[in-house]
Amino acid sequence: MKIVRTCSELRALTSAWRQDGLRIGFVPTMGALHAGHLSLIDISRQQAARTIASLFVNPAQFAPNEDFAAYPRDESRDMAMFAQAGVDLVYAPPVEQIYPQGHAASITIGGISEILEGEIRPQFFSGVASIVTILFNQVQPDLAVFGEKDYQQLCVIRKLVRDLHMPIEIIGGETIRETCGLAMSSRNKYLTDCERRQAPALYRTLCEIARGVRTGENPDQLCELAANTLSETGFGKLDYVTVRDAVTLRPHAEPGRPARVLAATWLGKARLIDNVAV
Ligand code: AMP
Repeated sequence: MKIVRTCSELRALTSAWRQDGLRIGFVPTMGALHAGHLSLIDISRQQAARTIASLFVNPAQFAPNEDFAAYPRDESRDMAMFAQAGVDLVYAPPVEQIYPQGHAASITIGGISEILEGEIRPQFFSGVASIVTILFNQVQPDLAVFGEKDYQQLCVIRKLVRDLHMPIEIIGGETIRETCGLAMSSRNKYLTDCERRQAPALYRTLCEIARGVRTGENPDQLCELAANTLSETGFGKLDYVTVRDAVTLRPHAEPGRPARVLAATWLGKARLIDNVAV
């Protein structure tokens, strides 16, 4: 497995692959790897002849009051896991390779990025769209794999690629969970043992809402009940729990269209987000 830190080294290797007609798959990550990341690498390896992963904790998607400094970092463990998973090349740039002195451009996606996570974390999706655009321009992959765990992010990236006519296929990978149902996340490291035992209630609650919607119950009432359950189980501030159109993420109005249940809530120091299909 090659590890490169500069865009010029990256370009030298990828242009050779491209000349050989090899399809390139790309999995962007912020490290602190778990089985969720590895599942995306597997998907890329099935669909592409070469798989590139990136390792970059992107400062632009953290607000000043968020956990950029505390975000878990363990590069040697991550590199061993990338190698074990069969990644061909890891791009792990220092910040100047991404945002050189004087960098000022940023990408804003309207509409879908202004609701839900976008309301709670106003600069988040602009930070995500900008880093993904920069990485796509540097890596120039044929396809890129993102997790459904961050469902709205996946929708925003699909929109980014469509609106900016990027010739990149976007593939969504299903959410990988602990056996208790908790969606794997680098931020689960912030949970105490006691909170880890409470955390699976989030997934259980989302599944109950999805079941209720399928049998024709009122989504708003189901979400209200779910909010009470979560607060009784010991969860902190609930940012949202809601049933949305699975494509537009607007309130789910038309029966027959695919729907998604999405939630974001605090548990101790961790902000947990999760979603399930109806
Ligand atoms: P991150 O390192 O948190 O930025 O995540 C990198 C990629 O892994 C994103 O596309 C995430 O959606 C995806 N991801 C994170 N957690 C999971 C999970 N539990 N299952 C599947 N994909 C995930």
